[in-house]
Amino acid sequence: MIAARILIVEDDRIVARDIQHQVSRMGHVVVGLSASGEEAVRLAGSHQPDLVLMDIRLEGEMDGIEAARRIRDAQRIPVVFLTAYANDDVVQRASLTEPFGYLLKPLEEPQMRTVIQMALYKQASDAKLRMSERRYAATLASIRDGVILCDRDGRVDFMNRVAEAMTGWTAAEAAGRPLTAVFVAVDEETLEPQEDFSALVRRSGALAPPERLSRLLPRGEAGESTRTELTGTELTGIVVEERCSAIIDDRGEVAGAILVFSDLTQRRQIAETLRKAQTDLARISRLTMMGELAAAVAHEVNQPLMAIITNAGTCLQRLSQPEPDLGKTRAVAERIVRDAQRAGDVVRSIHALARRTPADPGWVDVNALVVETLALVRAELRRARIALETDLQAGPSRVHGDRVQLQQLVLNLVMNAIEAMAAPDLPLRRLRIVTASGDGGISVRVEDSGPGIAESDPDVLFRAFYTTKPSGLGMGLSISRSIVELHGGRLTATPGTPCGSVFEFVLPPSPGET
Ligand code: ADP
Repeated sequence: MIAARILIVEDDRIVARDIQHQVSRMGHVVVGLSASGEEAVRLAGSHQPDLVLMDIRLEGEMDGIEAARRIRDAQRIPVVFLTAYANDDVVQRASLTEPFGYLLKPLEEPQMRTVIQMALYKQASDAKLRMSERRYAATLASIRDGVILCDRDGRVDFMNRVAEAMTGWTAAEAAGRPLTAVFVAVDEETLEPQEDFSALVRRSGALAPPERLSRLLPRGEAGESTRTELTGTELTGIVVEERCSAIIDDRGEVAGAILVFSDLTQRRQIAETLRKAQTDLARISRLTMMGELAAAVAHEVNQPLMAIITNAGTCLQRLSQPEPDLGKTRAVAERIVRDAQRAGDVVRSIHALARRTPADPGWVDVNALVVETLALVRAELRRARIALETDLQAGPSRVHGDRVQLQQLVLNLVMNAIEAMAAPDLPLRRLRIVTASGDGGISVRVEDSGPGIAESDPDVLFRAFYTTKPSGLGMGLSISRSIVELHGGRLTATPGTPCGSVFEFVLPPSPGET
């Protein structure tokens, strides 16, 4: 049993006392006794009882029906009427106040007990219902989707604020109208009028059929929207995604439908912006790559080109002598051909590097590679008066990789070492190349006695376009690192002892070569 706080309104004091005793025996608490309507309204306000037992005939101006109406309007406190006359007139007037029950006088305890329990139970379930309605109302008001509820005949019952804004109808105007008059939609692509989604759902009783894309036409274009009238630039309205579910009652029958629709305009704009940003990014990275590629080609081809120009000059000089030594001239011409071929190979290998695949993988003897590369720079070393030392200890020195790329790598490091020792006041000019092999793979060290690395973080040197040379491109070390990484190795720069710098790369041992 629910124990409740009860207000008794009865002008016959004896009856009032009697009711008070009965109610107390039932376990309830009587919070007040009143003989007039005016006082009852006041006591209801100050005591906030759970239930009012209200006689219809009362002392004073205000009768019980009027007092009950005021209490209901102000506090929603349930009222049970007590009456000796159950004539139609009185009951009809009383029922307008939505009472929770009637008790006929003289009052009998079992009847009173049941009516009070029923009233309290109904009040509790009404409160629950009101709470649940408030929850739904708050949910519907806060979501960004439009929501329209319609009854079993497809007439609008309710619509939330978003639906009002999107359709151009207010909920009050739309109430009772067919959904098709308020929500006018055409197929997004064909622009054919869309069939009433709620009718489909109500017919099939489906709870959640697949969503569909429609163009929701603004109010005013309703009814006039056909394929012929709406074309191209005249296209109005917003694209929405519609979902519709049937509302099923306790008997399992379709009581209506709920239509939920979301505006896709913003979502599509975001997707379009994203797509554009991705395209721009792809274009920029292509341009950057092309720029790096062009710079790489310029850098790597420069060395053989310089050699070609020098040798071509020598060739012409020899040929202009009265009795040219054709044997020697031929040797110089052959060097021109060799350098030109190397330039071609370099271009091909850079192209492969850009695609990040070894151009022509095969077995490469690292010691032999170092010797061949040094042969290419012999003239430069002589001109710069640099002493060359080699310490080629790599035992079985084969690695699997691309010969041209690996030669470029060694050449870049050697040329950088030569350039680092270009200052005229340098006390010592020494280039030392050391190869070694061990468990970690094969390593090649290029040591110079130049001024050393200017940066505290040597990694900066490997960035594309980083250079400290007036006519430098800043690509040599960046390409070199790419080559080493493509071969699964690593390239580092450290200060030399007692001076200069050491550039070392280690290539992983090849299968079967350890
Ligand atoms: P570039 O030679 O065109 O400048 P690199 O990428 O080959 O481009 O080298 C980048 C920079 O790294 C050089 O400008 C230089 O400052 C530094 N650097 C490279 N090698 C050495 C070296 N052996 N000793 C000192 N600094 C070096």
